[in-house]
Amino acid sequence: MSSLRRDPITRRLVIIAPERSPVLARSLRPIGRPADAHHDDLCPFCPGNEALAGRELLAWRPPGAHHDGADWRVRVVANRLPALRVESDLGHPPDALFESFGGLGAHEVIIESPRHDASLQTMSDEEIALVLWAWRERMRDLRRDFRLRSFHIVKNIGMEAGATMAHAHSQLLALPLVPEHLEDELLGAKVHYERTGRCIFCDLAAEETANAQRLVSRAGGALAFVPFAARVPFETWIVLEEHQHAFESTGDAGLAAAAAALGDVMRRLEAALESPSATILLHTAPAEVSAHASFHWHLEVIPRLVPVTGLAWDGGVHINPVLPEEAAEVLRGVSDTIRPDGSKASAGGGRA
Ligand SMILES: [Zn+2]
Ligand SMILES: [Zn+2]
Repeated sequence: MSSLRRDPITRRLVIIAPERSPVLARSLRPIGRPADAHHDDLCPFCPGNEALAGRELLAWRPPGAHHDGADWRVRVVANRLPALRVESDLGHPPDALFESFGGLGAHEVIIESPRHDASLQTMSDEEIALVLWAWRERMRDLRRDFRLRSFHIVKNIGMEAGATMAHAHSQLLALPLVPEHLEDELLGAKVHYERTGRCIFCDLAAEETANAQRLVSRAGGALAFVPFAARVPFETWIVLEEHQHAFESTGDAGLAAAAAALGDVMRRLEAALESPSATILLHTAPAEVSAHASFHWHLEVIPRLVPVTGLAWDGGVHINPVLPEEAAEVLRGVSDTIRPDGSKASAGGGRA
């Protein structure tokens, strides 16, 4: 039975239409992709090719390693074809009709592993935590530029998500404005805060834990759940139970919990859907003090199983053929995921 659901934060409408999907899960998956090698001599992100990848902005190397050597675990470089640059200006002042901004911003690439064929499914929790550490350190640095107002992490996995490089990477974009989708979230969170005095994400975390219908996993202070008004099949959010408006304010323990949850969710998606293409987004508060109490950073994992249809493009109304509660059940049902080091991650829906 179809239903119209409204996202409690953004008030965005989603059409949940399970009857549009006669067969669930496995039928939605794309064909398997070939296994890659650990190293590709031609890949600019592989160790040894550092000079090809662009200017290094940050790297984690073991103590004693040469400062620009190939012995890194995670590495951030400037995008060689940036969509935005910090050297640009803010553009013309907006006129009544056409608001334009210059190319001001930052566009960086986080090379997540020295292994060419690494993925969030095969990386250890510690390796994923290093990636989150790189996101956090770069955001802390970019926040000091007062012209930059919002910070975005985008990770595209697979062809359907538009990934153009095989080597595991994510991108950081810093913008001189707050895009509409984030404005919507901020506003929804603010309205809830003004009405109740509480953060809506903290409330959602408590509710999804208590109700457990849409819960995927809960461990170490991190929660993964399918949102009530999921836009696409198997959309999953990761939220820390500790309130923190900005990602870069999160301590190492929070990063470790989020990293473990992210690896676990990606392994569940792989087991249920056999490595779907996906986009991972980090939503964090912009450089505005007013969001401190009401906003709460989180990760959104968006599997790219179905094409985005006309109504979603036009009015932002998605049609989701999989019931969110059913998607959560499928992901929970994946028996304890096995970490790459052989140890078991949290049980589905299990308590911390
Ligand atoms: Zn590579
Ligand atoms: Zn909160």
